[in-house]
Amino acid sequence: MYPPRFSLIVPSTLDEALEILSKYGENAKVLAGGHSLIPLMKLRLASPKYIVYIGKLQGLSYIREEAGRIHIGALTTHATIESSDLLAKRNPLLSETASRIGDLQVRNMGTIGGSLAHADPAADYPAAMMALNAEIVAKSIRGERVIKASDFFKGPFTTALRSDELLVEVRIPALNGFFGTAYEKLVFRAMDFAIVGVAAMLEIDKTGTIVKAGVGLTGVGSTAVRAKGVEEELIGKPASIDTIVKASARASENLNPPSDIRASSEYRRAMAVVMTRRALSRALEAAKARMKGQG
Ligand SMILES: Cc1cc2nc3c(=O)[nH]c(=O)nc-3n(C[C@H](O)[C@H](O)[C@H](O)COP(=O)(O)OP(=O)(O)OC[C@H]3O[C@@H](n4cnc5c(N)ncnc54)[C@H](O)[C@@H]3O)c2cc1C
Repeated sequence: MYPPRFSLIVPSTLDEALEILSKYGENAKVLAGGHSLIPLMKLRLASPKYIVYIGKLQGLSYIREEAGRIHIGALTTHATIESSDLLAKRNPLLSETASRIGDLQVRNMGTIGGSLAHADPAADYPAAMMALNAEIVAKSIRGERVIKASDFFKGPFTTALRSDELLVEVRIPALNGFFGTAYEKLVFRAMDFAIVGVAAMLEIDKTGTIVKAGVGLTGVGSTAVRAKGVEEELIGKPASIDTIVKASARASENLNPPSDIRASSEYRRAMAVVMTRRALSRALEAAKARMKGQG
């Protein structure tokens, strides 16, 4: 089906884009990689009067480290995140997560800003955003604000972004020490959205105690969630499989996932525990390998 008629606006600078968004507000929609918005328009689930195409804006595609954090521009594609040397060293959780999104064509076009702003409850990045306690930077002509991932996702396809705001940057920690990360995604076919996805990050100290833990789940509710019970169960405990198994059992706490054609709510709750155990086990192995490498 063809989308309804719209006017296309192609700003040449960020300031110009923000002026346009301020002028047209709810009547305008930003277009980045187009891999979520265009299908929605074709299905007539979105009918914006104005499309503001930001794909050609300079200076919004980058991955760099600044003061202990990695800053990622909104237009950075999934493929660039997947293959980043900086992320491979300092935060492999995000590159592994990107590598599990759709297929190569989707990863070449889709952007991190578009994925987060779209806020699909089964999208992959939001789990990593929760596990990493990420910050999302929004900009408008009124200024800039930094939104914590836990405050960003408000519901299915709904975020804290205002209609005149552009998501410009994502900030995640540059990981240090004996850390390990993993993203486990349960799918029935290779390029599906997650039935359940779990992003995990662990850090252990030289005595073999878990000192930091972050666990985020996607596909299990109206937004991605942070598994606080699991994290509590890990911090301060010995870095062992027993600890992981005990902590993972808390992954389904407070979850009320939807039942749909692909999986029942009960199945998703059970799989949340299994995928958390798998993600944490792999993260633990990676953390221990880092310790051995430096020991
Ligand atoms: C076949 C297929 C398979 C896919 N599989 C997966 C998958 O397995 N996992 C997964 O997570 N995703 C998957 N996706 C979605 C894909 O990752 C999209 O690329 C992504 O969700 C949207 O990014 P985009 O740049 O294409 O955004 P667009 O489609 O351009 O925009 C999406 C939404 O975000 C808004 N927006 C875009 N950029 C900004 C910005 N900077 N500031 C404010 N608002 C903005 C737009 O207005 C729109 O509402 C799949 C998509 C397709 C077509």
